[in-house]
Amino acid sequence: MDKKMIFGHKNPDTDSICSALVYADLKTQLGDNVKPVRLGELNKETEYVLDYLDVKAPELITKVPEDVKGVILVDHNEFQQSVDNIRDVKILEVIDHHRISNFETNDPLYFRVEPVGCTSTILYKMYQENDKEISKTIATLMLSAIISDSLLFKSPTCTKEDVKAAKELGEIAEINVEEYGLAMLEAGTALDDKTAVELLTMDAKEFSFGESDVIIAQVNAIDTGTVFERREELEAEINKIIKEKELDLFLLVVTDIINSNSDVLAIGKATQNVEEAFKVKLAANRALLEGVVSRKKQIVTHLGDTFK
Ligand code: MG
Ligand code: MG
Ligand code: MG
Repeated sequence: MDKKMIFGHKNPDTDSICSALVYADLKTQLGDNVKPVRLGELNKETEYVLDYLDVKAPELITKVPEDVKGVILVDHNEFQQSVDNIRDVKILEVIDHHRISNFETNDPLYFRVEPVGCTSTILYKMYQENDKEISKTIATLMLSAIISDSLLFKSPTCTKEDVKAAKELGEIAEINVEEYGLAMLEAGTALDDKTAVELLTMDAKEFSFGESDVIIAQVNAIDTGTVFERREELEAEINKIIKEKELDLFLLVVTDIINSNSDVLAIGKATQNVEEAFKVKLAANRALLEGVVSRKKQIVTHLGDTFK
């Protein structure tokens, strides 16, 4: 296969799925032979987006087949968040908006990382730079990714560029951004039919802070209390995951998308790092982090510092 594969991170979110689809469209318009794929199950929010557009989900892979020529990473760069055989494949490009960590290649590559709120915001600029057409469907995919990553522009990760891109994409898509965005985010909070394990792995990311291994899982909710009704069950599963992966900390972040706070559950031998990072006292492993909605900007950095 002389095809190249494009994929976002494990436990994919809307940006990881949409950016893979979108970048595949741009690359195809540029004459490249690429295929968008995904590294995990779709969440409800992304399902809503693909159903709305009647777009098929990218094919699920667990490893990159040997005959694939090379891969393009979107929405991530850290190897532990990528495909299992990432060290054995040629990375041709990275388009991302996260910190750079645990990443290296043998060969030169196209590496584009910008401190904006969403990968799709970078892709939007790439369409313009290459003077390529954006269809209504592609515009809606990019818009959805920006709404998701920025929590409808309320996250501190959201930049002027994201807002501008979303506005222009909304016009191309002829969509009411606020109305569509709220419906999409709400669709992502329907967690009733999720098992505890699904809830904990849906949007979980692994981080290495110095010698310590940490998982930070995030779920969005309209009412965080409904998630904590299942606390016992969740704690039991978290303890299993900690044991299996030899983690120092598992942090479950339940984000109230209406009031822009997060209710967290911290388990493991490094829970004092959570108290230190956010100047809170955990009670029954739980604490409210006022104004915290972004894992990337408001959690990873602060928490990481306490492990130094
Ligand atoms: Mg992502
Ligand atoms: Mg993203
Ligand atoms: Mg996210």
